[in-house]
Amino acid sequence: MFVDSHCHLDRLSELTHGGDVAATLAAARAAHVHQFLAISTSLEELPGLAAIAREHEDVVISAGLHPLHQAPVEPSVEQIVEAAQQYDVVAIGETGLDYHYQESVPQAVQHERFKRHLMAAAELELPVIVHTREAKEDTLALLREYADPHVGGVLHCFTEDLDMAREAVRLGFYISLSGIITFRNAAPLRELARQLPLDRLLIETDSPYLAPVPHRGKPNEPAWVVEVAECIAQQRGITTDEVAMQTTANFYHLFRGAVPDAPPHVKEALAQSGLLV
Ligand SMILES: [Zn+2]
Ligand SMILES: [Zn+2]
Repeated sequence: MFVDSHCHLDRLSELTHGGDVAATLAAARAAHVHQFLAISTSLEELPGLAAIAREHEDVVISAGLHPLHQAPVEPSVEQIVEAAQQYDVVAIGETGLDYHYQESVPQAVQHERFKRHLMAAAELELPVIVHTREAKEDTLALLREYADPHVGGVLHCFTEDLDMAREAVRLGFYISLSGIITFRNAAPLRELARQLPLDRLLIETDSPYLAPVPHRGKPNEPAWVVEVAECIAQQRGITTDEVAMQTTANFYHLFRGAVPDAPPHVKEALAQSGLLV
């Protein structure tokens, strides 16, 4: 059983089961993907995401503004807190820093936004979903200053270096690997998949983006998180089942708010494995 810890279910392509969320989730469940965290990139997306979560018990959602989202007004800490409470989210984000495309949202704006999200998360005691790209030092500095190490969070779709991953783990964060690790030129990420402790890894699709090998070029979908787990298993010389169980347990350790609604057979399997305490 697998968890897709990061997908954008409100952005399905027409090419993915006709753009139908129910059919897409059904295909994922048939591939043994049994829990989905649907991520918001702006507070305006929350009503739509909440509607998906209401309809599908195995979908939970987050609240936050992506670092590259063009917002006419920056929400305050209180506004982020209120939105999170109103929509019953299990995490804050995605938020963070992205200096790769910084011309769209200036660094100073991204900083202030990230800081406010970290403060809101600490206030709510909710984990943070961090998007970080080419902003290693600034990301770590803000995490050190504002993140609550007892609540932690995840550096999602991680593509930075091992050194950064290790420091994030030290700060109480998980590292989430996406389909990128299956790409031919991603040897450093596969090395990272071997080196990091398995009990600190999550898996995700970031669908509809970044479809893994052998689906490259198509819009990604949650069913294909299995390919990410298979790649990690190959790298570590363990079974895909072991990766699935441990990353599922890691998911529920981090996102405690998802535990009550976890599918009963998932809870049972985790209890039997002794992984979920
Ligand atoms: Zn992201
Ligand atoms: Zn995302």
